Amino acid sequence: METELGFITQHIKEEVESFEYATSVNTAGRIVSSNDGVIMIEGLAEVKNGELLYISGGKYALALNLEEELIGAILLSTSADVAVGDIAYTTGKIVSVPAGKPLLGRVINPLGAPLDGKSEIKTRYYRNIEAPAPAILDRAKVNTPLYTGIKAIDSMIPIGKGQRELIIGDRQTGKTALAIDTIINQKDKDVICVYVAIGQKSSSVTKILGELEAHGALDYTVIVSSTAGQSAPLQYLAPYTGTAIAEEFMYNGRDVLIVYDDLSKHAVAYRTISLLLKRPSGREAYPGDIFYIHSKLLERSAKLCESLGGGSITALPIIETLAGDISAYIPTNVISITDGQIYLESELFNAGIRPAINVGLSVSRVGGAAQCPAMKKVSGKIRLHLAHYREMQIFARFGADLDSATKESLEMGARLTENLKQAEFSPVSMEDTVVELVVMQNDYLKGIPTNKVREVITGFLTYFHSREAAFIENMRTTKDIDEEGMKIIEYRIKRYIDRHLHLK
Ligand code: ATP
Ligand code: MG
Repeated sequence: METELGFITQHIKEEVESFEYATSVNTAGRIVSSNDGVIMIEGLAEVKNGELLYISGGKYALALNLEEELIGAILLSTSADVAVGDIAYTTGKIVSVPAGKPLLGRVINPLGAPLDGKSEIKTRYYRNIEAPAPAILDRAKVNTPLYTGIKAIDSMIPIGKGQRELIIGDRQTGKTALAIDTIINQKDKDVICVYVAIGQKSSSVTKILGELEAHGALDYTVIVSSTAGQSAPLQYLAPYTGTAIAEEFMYNGRDVLIVYDDLSKHAVAYRTISLLLKRPSGREAYPGDIFYIHSKLLERSAKLCESLGGGSITALPIIETLAGDISAYIPTNVISITDGQIYLESELFNAGIRPAINVGLSVSRVGGAAQCPAMKKVSGKIRLHLAHYREMQIFARFGADLDSATKESLEMGARLTENLKQAEFSPVSMEDTVVELVVMQNDYLKGIPTNKVREVITGFLTYFHSREAAFIENMRTTKDIDEEGMKIIEYRIKRYIDRHLHLK
C-alpha cells in the first residue's frame, strides 16, 4: 500500500516537474506509428514545418508533414527505436549542426556526430540546417575561377567561384573521381571543401577518406557521410548539413567548394520519406516538390558581395543517369537548376578516354566570365578543333578517300584528345595547361605518334620548367600570356623536339 502511494506521489512529482516543459496540451503529442524512421504523431497542434521535436527518452525528430489530425516527422537518430505511445514535444527550434574550423579534417554524420573515431567536436558555432538562400542584392557576379586541375574542364568548361556545375553520367564513369580531383586541386589555394556522401557504400566513403588523406587534402575538407545502410531521413538531411557547414565559412568571407555525391540518391531518399508520409506522388513516383527541394538546396550556393565579406560556395552536385538518359525527371530538374553540366559518357570511358567528358554536350553558363585572360586566349581554338575533329571522324567512318588536309586534321584531333586524357589524382596547374594548349593548338607535335603524345608533353613540361621558371611564375601572377610568350613556348618546344627526341 505504502509503496503504491509512494509511486503515485513520485508520479505526481514527476508530472509537476515536467509541467513547465509542456505548457499546453498543444505542445505535446502521442506517437501513433513508427516506420523506417518516419513517425506519425497525433494531438500536436502548434508545430511549425521543419521544427525540432523532442521525444521522451532523449530522442529528436523533425516535423515535416503538418496536417490537422496527424503530424508526420522524421527521426533524427541513427537507430529508429521509438515506440508507439511515446510522447513528442515541440521545442520551437530548428535542427542545427556544429560548424566552424574544428570540423576541418573530420568525418561526421548528418547530425554532426563524429564518425572517424576521433574526439568529440568542440565548437562554439552551430548553424541551422535550413536557411534562406542569399538574396539577389547580397550576391556578386561570378568573376573568379575555381580550377579543377582537369585540363579539359579548366580550358573548355570553366567553373567560377559561386557557380553550380552539375557532374552527370551513368554509373562508373568517373563522376566521383572528378569531384575528388577538384578537391585535391584546392590544396594551398585557400578553398575549404565539403564532401557530402549520400546513400553510398561505407567502403566507398572510407576509400575517399583515404585518398583525400594521402593527397594532403583532408586538412581543409569536411566529410558529411550518410551511407546506404542508414535510414532515408538521415540520407535526406546530409546535403543540408553539408550546406550549413559550408555557409558558416562563406559568411566568414571564405571560399568553399561543396560536392553532393549524389543527388539522385537524395531524391530517392526523399521519395521514400514521402511515400511513408503518404504524400501523393507524381512523375516517376517522386513527390511533386522534389524540384523545389533541390532548387532550394542549390540556391544556397552563391558568390557574396564585398559588403558581406565576398565569400562563396561553389557547388558540384552529382547526378547518376541510366543508360545516358538525361531527359529523365531528376536529371532534367537538376540540369535546369544548375549553371551548366559536365557530361560523362560510358562509351568514352570504355574507349580509354578518361576523364570521359563529352565536350560537345558539356557547358558552363557563367564560368567563362571568370576565366583568366591566358586561358581564354588558348581555349577557344581548342574547342573548335575538337568539334571539327568529331565531325571529321563521322565523315571518316564512311571509309571515304580522305584528302591530306582531312587526314591531318584527324591526326591533330587524335593528338589533342590524347593530350586531354588525365589520370586520377594528377591535377595540372593553370600555367601548365596554358603551355600545353599553346603547343596543341598550333600542332607543334605534328608527326609525333598519338601514343607518344603524353610522354612527350610530360618531358617537355619538365624541360620547360627548368628553362623558363620565371616565365611560368610571371604567368601565374599576371594570369596572362602575350605574343612574345607564345613565341617562347614555340621556340622551346621546337628545341626540345630537336634536341631531346630522337624520333626522326
Ligand atoms: P559510381 O556510379 O559507382 O558512383 P562514378 O561515376 O563515381 O561511379 P568513379 O568511382 O569515380 O565513378 O570511377 C570509376 C572507376 O574509374 C574507378 O575505379 C576509378 O578509379 C576509375 N577512374 C575514374 N577516373 C579515372 C581517370 N581519369 N583515369 C583512370 N581511371 C579513372
Ligand atoms: Mg561515384
